[in-house]
Amino acid sequence: MTRVRAFASRVSAALVLACGGFAPAVAAAAHAPGASVAGVPVLMYHRIAPDTPGDAVGRSLTIDPKTFDAQLSWLDAHGIRTLTMDDLVAQLRRGEHPRRAVVLTFDDGYVDAATYATPLLRKHHARASFYVSAGFVGLERHAGWRQLRAMRAAGMEIGCHGTRHLDLATLDRAGLEAEIGHCAQTLARYLARPTTYAYAAGKWGPEAIAVLREHRFDAALTERPGLVRDLGEPFALPRRRVDRDDGIGAFAGIATP
Ligand SMILES: [Zn+2]
Repeated sequence: MTRVRAFASRVSAALVLACGGFAPAVAAAAHAPGASVAGVPVLMYHRIAPDTPGDAVGRSLTIDPKTFDAQLSWLDAHGIRTLTMDDLVAQLRRGEHPRRAVVLTFDDGYVDAATYATPLLRKHHARASFYVSAGFVGLERHAGWRQLRAMRAAGMEIGCHGTRHLDLATLDRAGLEAEIGHCAQTLARYLARPTTYAYAAGKWGPEAIAVLREHRFDAALTERPGLVRDLGEPFALPRRRVDRDDGIGAFAGIATP
């Protein structure tokens, strides 16, 4: 912003404050529920890799690094900044509603999170949240603890995606403890205590939420459509899936409110 424009915006801000009745209306609108509150898109990725898996599901979950690079360039060009999920939760808790922001999330902790996604994110000074299943860390095709530590040191959030990637809606209390509690404890031991969770297969139930609260999680992500506007339902936050075949126009549509 030039000095003249900065001055002009200070003057207009002062004028708005000086107009009795006007400023409170603006302030009220900023905090009203619904459409007047900025919504933040939370995007869901799985793999960023140049290979093309033969099976249809694997294929649809794998995005070419060039495509991802172009998506990050598009965000840069449009002044849209990337937040991690724990950042967004902290801002919403403070009553802030970030505008021109997006959260990029990656499920399953594949090794390409470290070898392709993170280097591209760093190139664009972007951040993201990676959801790993603690029992799969270091196993074939999955990132190891050393890689996850380096990602965290680069500003990425590492959150929980269960211990064995099980559907939480099918588990009893002991199963939920093993799936949620053990994941939280393992990440706390090897990285840092996780505060956000992404449901495997997008499934959960009321008991799962109780166990998440016991383990001091602040929020959990589903695969429900929509934007994150507030923390009214912190354990049922929506996400938008990024598909392999999305062109930049489709990406622009899901990366903006
Ligand atoms: Zn998953």
